[in-house]
Amino acid sequence: MTGDRRENSLPPRRIQSLRTWNNHLSARCEVYRPERLRELEAIVGCPQLRDVICRGLGRSYSDCHLNEAGGVILQERLDRMLSFDFSSGILECEGGVALGDIIDCFLPRGFFPPVTPGTRFVTIGGAIANDVHGKNHHRDGSLGAHILSLSLLTAGGETLQCSPTKNPDLFWATVGGLGLTGVITSARVRLQHVSTGYMKVDIDRAPNLDAALEQFSETDERYQYSMAWIDALAGGGSLGRSVLIRGNHAEIEDLPAAQRRAPLAVRRRRRPSLPFYLPSFALNAASVRAFNQSYYVSHPDRTGSIVPYDSFFYPLDAIGNWYRLYGRRGFVQFQAVFPPEVSRRALIELLQEVSRSRRASFLAVLKVMGPAGKGLLSFPMAGHTLALDMANTGRDLAVFMCRLNELALAHGGRVYLAKDAFLTAEAAASMYPRLQRFRKIKMRIDPQGRFASSMARRIGLVESREA
Ligand SMILES: Cc1cc2nc3c(=O)[nH]c(=O)nc-3n(C[C@H](O)[C@H](O)[C@H](O)COP(=O)(O)OP(=O)(O)OC[C@H]3O[C@@H](n4cnc5c(N)ncnc54)[C@H](O)[C@@H]3O)c2cc1C
Repeated sequence: MTGDRRENSLPPRRIQSLRTWNNHLSARCEVYRPERLRELEAIVGCPQLRDVICRGLGRSYSDCHLNEAGGVILQERLDRMLSFDFSSGILECEGGVALGDIIDCFLPRGFFPPVTPGTRFVTIGGAIANDVHGKNHHRDGSLGAHILSLSLLTAGGETLQCSPTKNPDLFWATVGGLGLTGVITSARVRLQHVSTGYMKVDIDRAPNLDAALEQFSETDERYQYSMAWIDALAGGGSLGRSVLIRGNHAEIEDLPAAQRRAPLAVRRRRRPSLPFYLPSFALNAASVRAFNQSYYVSHPDRTGSIVPYDSFFYPLDAIGNWYRLYGRRGFVQFQAVFPPEVSRRALIELLQEVSRSRRASFLAVLKVMGPAGKGLLSFPMAGHTLALDMANTGRDLAVFMCRLNELALAHGGRVYLAKDAFLTAEAAASMYPRLQRFRKIKMRIDPQGRFASSMARRIGLVESREA
């Protein structure tokens, strides 16, 4: 890295414009890339830096990992595996270790992460800081439920050990805490045991939302993992038509003979990359409608298909830089969760809004969520969550997203902070009732507001710099 060197032997830095994963928001930041804990401590303690925030692999759609005119600490070099206990499956690793590296290292030994989002390109620190959920939330909860302990480098320069029993309030403020309590320098996570690197998958089509919700509630307990792709452009009697994709880790006896010989050795697919941005008109209502129709038709009901784990968990990772599909202006994602009593009504209203707007969303995903965890700012709560991607069309998109946020609020729903770009401070406070408790802990552990991000200022999690 090129850059200037400051008097007190700070590691080099560079002034750089960083972007969110979806290419929608950007910020000019002072970027550091420490290789060692000592360097990290020096950056956190540097009096010339007004505030800092960590960045994992930058896969969040929100500005939670950006810090306009402030410091950003890249975690990518703090990526050492520290210990592993085969009998318990407990892995201790630094915060910058990528989930994909954990899979590459431990799947051949019969272990898999307890929870994974829809991409393997996230760090453990970043995944804890957003308390990520996977297709198994209805069964296994979010990642925070599987973190046994973590080490937190705080604003005061102290490293504190936190767990559900040691400094529990700080632990639950850090799980889902968007990096605002300090740097997660390491964590202990319990991996789950698996017998193969394959999934046994059932596919069921549902002609509309009611049919999809019914199938979820009638048969979901059979599956560890469950989600539905939903056609967000379908309207009328087909509103919410879906393809439910649900499965379990395959056992050795489920596999065809050829794979039984090496059940844990799954060859990763080659990863073609989208070399350029598509023009923004390429994804429009007509092309997405055609895609949705062909996706629905090409996924007839099927039971017991055996597929490699990566095509089940990470279909989007198969194409590098797929965000370029949306053109140079990028896209946004709306994701909200609704309590079970109101979710049907809320989902119908939401889908009607989207279908009427003719905004193209070929990536729309519906999931069932289990009970909420203990993270003070964690997103998941019992009910249904819907995630929709939409191309960035500027001002009119912002107006539309604010309408969706209002709709979520009106139904007692909650917007996911890892994905948000439009929430107001008032809306965030209503959606996250434990926010006051979070603020108190933040004030105690970081009274000067050393850890801050563009998002934290935008939605009032920390005070604005002027204040
Ligand atoms: C294709 C795709 C699919 C996705 N699917 C899902 C899904 O199914 N479920 C889900 O929950 N999410 C999903 N996400 C969102 C993603 O899992 C989260 O945004 C995740 O937090 C990104 O991790 P990261 O390492 O890139 O962290 P970043 O995006 O870089 O940062 C996220 C937050 O973590 C903080 N942080 C990073 N490292 C540390 C550290 N060491 N210590 C303290 N704080 C830290 C940052 O300050 C920031 O607030 C998806 C994202 C993509 C692109």
